[in-house]
Amino acid sequence: MKLPKLRELGEAIKALFKGPYTSKFPKLPHKPHPNFRGQPEFDQDKCVGCLACEEICPSGAIAHEDIIDEKGISQRTMIHYTDVCIFCGQCEAICIADQQGIKLSNQWELSFFNRKEAYETIEKELQICEICSSAIACKDHLKWITERIGELAFSSPTLYLSHLRRLGIVDENIISVLRDKGRSDRIKILCARCRRETTLTTKE
Ligand code: SF4
Ligand code: SF4
Repeated sequence: MKLPKLRELGEAIKALFKGPYTSKFPKLPHKPHPNFRGQPEFDQDKCVGCLACEEICPSGAIAHEDIIDEKGISQRTMIHYTDVCIFCGQCEAICIADQQGIKLSNQWELSFFNRKEAYETIEKELQICEICSSAIACKDHLKWITERIGELAFSSPTLYLSHLRRLGIVDENIISVLRDKGRSDRIKILCARCRRETTLTTKE
C-alpha cells in the first residue's frame, strides 16, 4: 500500500480542524484571498486622465474618448474593457497618480450576457485651447504637473495660466481690457500650436 506523504498528511489533519479548503459558492458568497488580483477599477477623484495606463496596457483594455462640443462640454471619458483585460497590473504600476488612479480590486465575478456592456468608465474635465478649441489635457493633469514642478510651472504660460484661473486671479475682465493687437491672446490657455502662432505672429 502506498503511504501518504507527510505534507499531504499534515494538510489532511489541518483540514479536519480548519474545515475544507473549497468554498460553498454559489450557495454561499465567495470571499477572495486579500492578495487576489481581480478587475482593475478607476478612481474618479485620483485619476488625472493622463493616458499613461492606456499606453502601457498590453491587451488594449483601456481607451479614451474626448468630447468637445458647441454646448461647452469638454470631457475625456476613460474606458476600461473588462472582457479583454488580463489583470496583469501594468496600469496600476505605471499610474502617475501614485498608483491610485487605477487599482486592481478583488472583484472576480465578471460574467455578463452582453459583451458590449463589459466596460466601465469615468469622466474627467478637459482643458481646451481658448483659440482653436482642441484638447490640451485634462484639467486635473495640468494641476498635477503644476504641483509637481512647483515654480518651474511659470516657464509654461499654459500651466501658470490654468493655475491662476483655478485660483480665480485671471478672469474675463482682465482679458477684455487687453483686446488689442493680440495682447489678450497672451493670457489665454493655448495649445502648443496656437501659443507658437500668437507669440511669433506680429499683428498690425
Ligand atoms: S490589468 Fe493589464 S490588461 Fe488589464 S487594464 Fe491594466 S494593463 Fe490592461
Ligand atoms: S492617472 Fe493613472 S489611471 Fe488615470 S489615466 Fe493616468 S495612468 Fe491612467
